[in-house]
Amino acid sequence: MQFDLHSFLENARVPYNAHFLTDLSQADFGGFTLAAPAECDFTATPTADGAALLLCVKAQVHAECARCLEPLQRSYDFQREYLVRMRDVEDPDFELPCKEEGCLDLEELVYQELIFEVPAVLLCSADCQGLCPICGKKKAAGCTCPPAEHAAPVDARLSILKQLLS
Ligand SMILES: [Zn+2]
Ligand SMILES: [Zn+2]
Repeated sequence: MQFDLHSFLENARVPYNAHFLTDLSQADFGGFTLAAPAECDFTATPTADGAALLLCVKAQVHAECARCLEPLQRSYDFQREYLVRMRDVEDPDFELPCKEEGCLDLEELVYQELIFEVPAVLLCSADCQGLCPICGKKKAAGCTCPPAEHAAPVDARLSILKQLLS
């Protein structure tokens, strides 16, 4: 979805509102995925010397706990505000993503803001103790292994897992 910011700054006298879905199920976020399209609201309001933009994003994030690998789901609901003037849009270093000159790429903006908003490392709980490197069970489930310090993992799969987790 595109928003012609340049002509909005030139001509608009009344606010612009759009509600849209952004399907980012194929997007590469690194540590997480979006199972359903993100629900987005975008508002542009003319100001004395430019425009105030407001983007609201609601998204369901699917990921694995970085310590115990349990699947987890998080809901995100956040908003961002941007104040732009004509000279920002004409600046080659304009910080908002544009597909062509002065035309805001809202999907790319939603993608970028999700990357900022969602931590790269997600945990099922802040005090997740992860997996036991010896038996591979969740430590919270209560394994009876001795402290892992000097013990060797029992099989190769677990040692791979251990490397991945370290
Ligand atoms: Zn966990
Ligand atoms: Zn154990």
